[in-house]
Amino acid sequence: MRLDLLFKAIPIKAIPRTLSFEFFPPKTDRAWYTLEDTIDQLMPLGPDFVSVTYGAGGATRTKTREIVEHLQGKAAAVAMAHLTCVNATRAELGALLEEYHKAGIVNLLALRGDPPQGQKSFVPTDGGCAFATDLIKLIKDDGRFAILCAAYPEGHPEAASREADWERLAQKFEAGACAAITQCFFDPAPYQEMRAWLKRRLGYEARIIPGILPITDFLALDRFCKRCGASIPAAVRAALAPLADHRVLVRKAGIELTINFARQLLDLGAPGLHIYALNRSTAAAELVTGLRLSGHLD
Ligand SMILES: Cc1cc2nc3c(=O)[nH]c(=O)nc-3n(C[C@H](O)[C@H](O)[C@H](O)COP(=O)(O)OP(=O)(O)OC[C@H]3O[C@@H](n4cnc5c(N)ncnc54)[C@H](O)[C@@H]3O)c2cc1C
Repeated sequence: MRLDLLFKAIPIKAIPRTLSFEFFPPKTDRAWYTLEDTIDQLMPLGPDFVSVTYGAGGATRTKTREIVEHLQGKAAAVAMAHLTCVNATRAELGALLEEYHKAGIVNLLALRGDPPQGQKSFVPTDGGCAFATDLIKLIKDDGRFAILCAAYPEGHPEAASREADWERLAQKFEAGACAAITQCFFDPAPYQEMRAWLKRRLGYEARIIPGILPITDFLALDRFCKRCGASIPAAVRAALAPLADHRVLVRKAGIELTINFARQLLDLGAPGLHIYALNRSTAAAELVTGLRLSGHLD
């Protein structure tokens, strides 16, 4: 199922909102088994779609396609492959689209990508795409795929301001994206401000699905947020930092905070939730169950 068609069928304010999970290609055989087990645990929760990230290395890239094929086949899921501009010419990206089409993959999350390890800033490949918008245009010209893109409620870390970055987001919608998924964030205010800004800029309410990172470990969260430029609100820090060394307590408080945050977003009219499952099922399942118990998700 192409996601642009699914999104058209669900008006933004109507229930059900979409539920989706994100996975990443595992590096070891053991991690493969964990992912397979996670998929078996999470698919019965009935996600509207699932997605698989795309790495810098050639082997990881093949795995993205293999996992999406597995999800679409054995797990009968609507699945989406992430795709970046890193280390690829336009011709290579075109060949990859052909390969995806042959594999029955119809949904793509088009990204610029982060600089490969060891490089400080992103350098476009000669003959490649410099920004996600260029990749979106290339995929749009191909015509066979639904295209999603990334959004940053607090602005992308390289942007001069969050509004400058939201303007780039508007351009991604104009270039052909049918929806965006956000980087993780923990305060609803910037998300609301971004949606309102975009509605003024585009003249319609774009589908911006919040990316939700279940909080299970405060120190890991702190490290992750420093790397990707997301901020941890003072209230979240105050609640979790004192528990950081108590695995059970911090996890319990973190999941509660995540459930409340997701409820707030849905109450504010978020068109769904995209859960960064991190190839583990328990926290994602607890989050979905908590939201279903309070009637926030169908
Ligand atoms: C939901 C989600 C999923 C992700 N999945 C992956 C993944 O699978 N693999 C992976 O490697 N990374 C992934 N990322 C990370 C992403 O690749 C990085 O955040 C990357 O730094 C930016 O990608 P982008 O597509 O947002 O880039 P862009 O939209 O191209 O933006 C990059 C920067 O350039 C600026 N910019 C954009 N267009 C222009 C222009 N025309 N002129 C000047 N400046 C411009 C933007 O403001 C921003 O600062 C994901 C991020 C999100 C939010």
